[in-house]
Amino acid sequence: MIEVRNLVHRYGDARAVDGVSLTLADGEFVVVAGPNGSGKTTLVRHFNGLSTPDEGSVLVDGHDVTDHPVTARSSVAMVFQDPRECFVAATVGADVAFGPANLGLTHDAIEERRERALRAVRMDGREDERIDELSGGEQARVAIAGALAMDPTHLVLDEPFAGLDWPAREAVLDHLQALHERGTGVVVVTHDLRDVAASADRIVVLSDGRIALDGPLDAVEDRLAEFGVRPP
Ligand code: ADP
Ligand code: MG
Repeated sequence: MIEVRNLVHRYGDARAVDGVSLTLADGEFVVVAGPNGSGKTTLVRHFNGLSTPDEGSVLVDGHDVTDHPVTARSSVAMVFQDPRECFVAATVGADVAFGPANLGLTHDAIEERRERALRAVRMDGREDERIDELSGGEQARVAIAGALAMDPTHLVLDEPFAGLDWPAREAVLDHLQALHERGTGVVVVTHDLRDVAASADRIVVLSDGRIALDGPLDAVEDRLAEFGVRPP
C-alpha cells in the first residue's frame, strides 16, 4: 500500500504538489490524469523516494520512504516516460537482470526473475538483442520487464504511451491488464485517457498540484473536461 499524507513539493516558491493525500491499495489499477504541468510526474516520483517531501510524508507498506528508500524501491517500481532513461545495459537480458542483481539475489534467482519478466512482456528469447536496435514499442516493453524483474507490489508508469503507435499502445496496455489480473498494483500517469480509462479501478485527476477528482470512471467522467482532461 502507498499512503501519501499532506504532501507538498516546491520548486522555488511554486508548489508543484500542493497538499496531496492519497492511498493506493495493493492490486489497484489507478490512472493519474491531468493536464501538462499539473504535478503528476512530481507526485509519483515521491512514491518510491526519488524525490523528498518539503512537507508531509509518503509511506510504502507502513514505512516512510525517506527513511527506507531501499524498501520503497523494491516495492514500487517506476517506468519513466522515455524508456531510454531507464536502461543501464546495452542488451535486453543484461538490462532486465540489472535490478535483481543489485538486490543481491543468487545467480539462479536472477535468471528466474529475468526469464519471468521477459516472458510477461513477450520478449523472451531476445536476451541478446541490442536495446538501441529495438522499436519504440519493444523498448517500452523491455523497460516494463526491467521494473517487473524487481517483483514490485506496485508498478508506476509515467506516460507509458507517449510516442507509441497504436499497436504498441495496445500491446503495452494488454500487459498492464494482465499484470493487474495477477495482483500487481498498476499506476498509469497520463494526460490522455484514451484506451486506459476503461481498465482503471479509479481515476485521480490533478489540477495545479491538488486532487480535483478521485473515483471510478463513471463517477468522474462528466467533470473531466472541467479540469482539462479529454474524456475517453
Ligand atoms: P506533469 O507531469 O503533470 O506535466 P510536473 O510534475 O512535471 O507536471 O510539473 C508540475 C509543475 O512543476 C509545472 O509547473 C512544472 O513546470 C514545474 N516543474 C517540474 N519540474 C521542475 C523542475 N525540475 N524545476 C522547476 N520546476 C519544475
Ligand atoms: Mg509529467
